[in-house]
Amino acid sequence: MAAWWNGLAIPQGETMSSIKRILVTGGAGFLGSHLCERLVAAGHDVICADNFFTSQKSNVAHLLDSPNFELIRHDIIHPLWLEVDEIYNLACPAAPGHYQYNPIKTMKTSVMGAINVLGMARRCRAKVLQASTSEVYGDPEVHPQPESYRGAVNPIGPRACYDEGKRAAETLFMDYHRHNGVNVRIVRIFNTYGPRMHPFDGRVVSNFIRQALAGEPITIFGSGSQTRSFCYRDDLVEGMIRMMNGPDDFVGPVNIGNPGEFTIRQLAELTLELTGSKSQLVEKPLPVDDPERRRPDITLAKTRLGWEPTIPLRDGLAETIDWFRSVRMADFRAPTPNY
Ligand code: NAD
Ligand code: UDP
Repeated sequence: MAAWWNGLAIPQGETMSSIKRILVTGGAGFLGSHLCERLVAAGHDVICADNFFTSQKSNVAHLLDSPNFELIRHDIIHPLWLEVDEIYNLACPAAPGHYQYNPIKTMKTSVMGAINVLGMARRCRAKVLQASTSEVYGDPEVHPQPESYRGAVNPIGPRACYDEGKRAAETLFMDYHRHNGVNVRIVRIFNTYGPRMHPFDGRVVSNFIRQALAGEPITIFGSGSQTRSFCYRDDLVEGMIRMMNGPDDFVGPVNIGNPGEFTIRQLAELTLELTGSKSQLVEKPLPVDDPERRRPDITLAKTRLGWEPTIPLRDGLAETIDWFRSVRMADFRAPTPNY
């Protein structure tokens, strides 16, 4: 017999107590929209709050007909009054070009956004997860980066609005946890890519694919010997959900990323191979404070969450290229000057 809750059919295998009211801030973004999809499919009552600074409604348009999905245009620097059981706090521009567009707003989003979701969590006794970042390690002297490494961040450089904003958010999460007993989780996300990333966000994966498909020069910043470790979005979303549902004594921070490490030049060459493009590689100046190496130590995620990535770069990149081929670039607003 079909079970019903709040007018909604409860998916098989779920009970009323396992269905939660979940707020996803930044839920219309690249990662947020995939997270919303997963949570809606699991039958949860999902509220997406977003100001669409770096995203568009089309990312979640397919969810709007679901009775267990709700979309609110809201800027998280302002308080929001909702009754929820869980909050995933993803609201924040993530690409360097996006977060440097209005650095003061970026800092406000991280800090005031954290205060607002933590206040809501305290009032509702909700669990709240912070989408932090590998940028808290800055340009790391320790490699690969374990969670115990405290980082090397330039507090006055152009990346500081993001790095220090996210570091301050982690501080707030830990202080609300210690002083107010708020049930928190912190995940440090390493470079994640996949379908629905903003084609004009200026990040390396989106730039290279877009340039390769258009036959334009591939812009390598610096010599291309700097490294990143790229995680496919499905692996990442799985890691975030596991952390939210993990044991209450494990608040993190926990690294979620793919330890496969590639130079930027290797990424360019793989993109050319998978697209069949004849684009030339051209070198451009390296941005200030660009980290030289980055790779997550995921021992903690493996042991405490039983999580590790499953999708190799080659496969994930092929999926992402297919998606870039399927969309019309003209449908995307470029919020920042394009590199
Ligand atoms: P994204 O830019 O696609 O998503 C961010 C979303 O937040 C967008 O929908 C944007 O409109 C929204 N937003 C921004 N400021 C807001 C505000 N003041 N109020 C409400 N909404 C706001 O980026 P993403 O890659 O999906 O990143 C999601 C989260 O994960 C971010 O917090 C980011 O810092 C974190 N993260 C992502 C990566 C990555 O590689 N993708 C790496 C580390 C951390
Ligand atoms: N990068 C590049 N060409 C581009 C965009 C980025 O060579 O068109 C480099 C950038 O300098 C950095 C790396 O790729 O070393 C990753 O950049 P991204 O902006 O994707 O993320 P980051 O990890 O720096 O936040």
